[in-house]
Amino acid sequence: MSTNTDSRQLPADAAITWISGPVLRASVARPFSINEAVLVGARQLLGEVIRLDGPDAVIQVYEDTTGLRPGDTISATGAALSVPLGPGLLGNILDGLLRPLNVRGEYIAPGVRESGEVHSWPFRPRVRAGAQLGAGQVVGVVKRKDARLQHCLVPPGISGTVIDIVPPGSYPGDVPVCVLRDPEGDEHPVCLVQHWPVRKPRPVQARIPVEGPLFTGQRILDCLFPLACGSRAAMPGGFGTGKTVLQETLAKWCDAEVIIYVGCGERGNEMAGVLHEFPQLDDPRTGRPLMERTVIIANTSNMPVAAREASIYTAVTVAEYFRDQGLRVALMADSTSRWAEALREVSGRLGELPGEGGYPAYLSSRQADFYERAAHVRTLGGNAGSLSIIGAVSPPSADFSEPVTTHTKRHVRCFWALDATRAQARFYPAIHPLQSYSQDIEVLTPFWSELGNPQWQEQRRRFLGLLEEQARLERMARIVGKDALPPRQQHVLLCAELINEAFLRQSAFSETDRYCPAAKQIAMMQLLDRFIELSATAVASGVDVASISSLPVLRQLHRMGEEIDNDALDGFETLGKTLDLEFAALSNGSTGHAS
Ligand code: ADP
Repeated sequence: MSTNTDSRQLPADAAITWISGPVLRASVARPFSINEAVLVGARQLLGEVIRLDGPDAVIQVYEDTTGLRPGDTISATGAALSVPLGPGLLGNILDGLLRPLNVRGEYIAPGVRESGEVHSWPFRPRVRAGAQLGAGQVVGVVKRKDARLQHCLVPPGISGTVIDIVPPGSYPGDVPVCVLRDPEGDEHPVCLVQHWPVRKPRPVQARIPVEGPLFTGQRILDCLFPLACGSRAAMPGGFGTGKTVLQETLAKWCDAEVIIYVGCGERGNEMAGVLHEFPQLDDPRTGRPLMERTVIIANTSNMPVAAREASIYTAVTVAEYFRDQGLRVALMADSTSRWAEALREVSGRLGELPGEGGYPAYLSSRQADFYERAAHVRTLGGNAGSLSIIGAVSPPSADFSEPVTTHTKRHVRCFWALDATRAQARFYPAIHPLQSYSQDIEVLTPFWSELGNPQWQEQRRRFLGLLEEQARLERMARIVGKDALPPRQQHVLLCAELINEAFLRQSAFSETDRYCPAAKQIAMMQLLDRFIELSATAVASGVDVASISSLPVLRQLHRMGEEIDNDALDGFETLGKTLDLEFAALSNGSTGHAS
């Protein structure tokens, strides 16, 4: 987090009159503005003005306030709380104020703003003096560690003629690499590192229609509850239901080009796991370290509560910065419940009237501010870019009717409900097919048609219909016994079990099955659909469901995800032939070989 200040003594603009944890009251000597960044006390702790109350300002402080006393002075910075955006973000683990953390997630000393060390980046200009540039257009490029190029863009709100551009070379973030003169004659230096206020969405030309999914390689997501690229999803689940594993699986396998992972207020040891694991993961597509296209923003629950509140905005601002480079960005937030708890704590200290569950009345609008920043856009520079947001929610006692989960539902398009019963049965991913939904089905139907499966929507509906009927019939089967059900209902149970076991179950730790390419998902869906059709016809013509259950092909279908390699998909053709042959033999048998 930046305040653009140096260590010189700043004027005292206010004096502390009252302190409660991270929240202070101060009597001000000159007007402050809302969301203005301030520096508090001798250690110049970073804070933000959150309320103006007559001659008093209420300030939340993002660092440990131990040792502050009434009478300590506060200086204003004149700028909104902002973050530095530029090269050097990718590959790093930062705290909610964008200060580097070490791999153990150790908190950096209070008052430390940006590391003392001066970084330089190899910059190559892409324009010449005299060129006309508008906001969002490319000034030059910096080569990333993975050899891809990161663009240095003209900041929003600025345009003009290039009057100075540096030659190729190595430059620190705060040295102008280009100077623009606008039509009024004002000059604007452009640096590699640019500052942007965290609470303000970065501008774009327009929001544009969705073109495809954020493809994840997880069958239950891509086929049943898909997320469009630039859309938003929530993943609620109790402790141990697999939120962290699923977030990591998505970070690793989804087809985003940049991943922003914000660990918000999770217990220190859980976050330490992520901090330790991520740097060791390889990008399965390139074989290079996954961290080269990842930024981790970590705020464990032992870090100051106000910083936790800010970290989610910091993360989404960093994500928008990469979106503005014309990239597909995915932001994973784990967990938005801890963020809401931080809001509740700060609100409590401010003495605000508590709403439902003790959360402030503005919880929902704050959630909206966050989720609405997900979008598929035409950037200021004219490229398409997207930001998809996936927020984990940890409802206490896995109760989805609590306020954070219910409000989140209003702001997301996909709801991936993680179910404790499935997780206890070690059925992963433990996403409950009947409690989850996606509102992106219509816009994604053309995607599956283009890949060769125009039947996708119909198949999806059929699968979900069978799973729904299974839930109802299982209650009845528990009372009367499965065998007492009529054949058609036994057939429903057989098909639903197959969909669950063969299609929805997918271990994140299986070498073959942890990622399922789209062609394989289509082949599996079509094969299961064929089984449903053939078996329904067989049952209708009098074949016993028990005979269908004992077909050898059923065992093969159960294991097809594991047994058919992602690059040997002709295995599905062979399996399809076996399926047809076994059913042909079965129906011949049942008709007593009529010929
Ligand atoms: P949460 O974050 O919800 O508390 P975790 O993500 O830590 O839960 O998951 C708990 C455990 O469940 C993991 O350690 C792992 O053994 C198992 N698990 C979760 N998801 C999967 C998955 N997709 N595939 C295989 N095992 C999983």
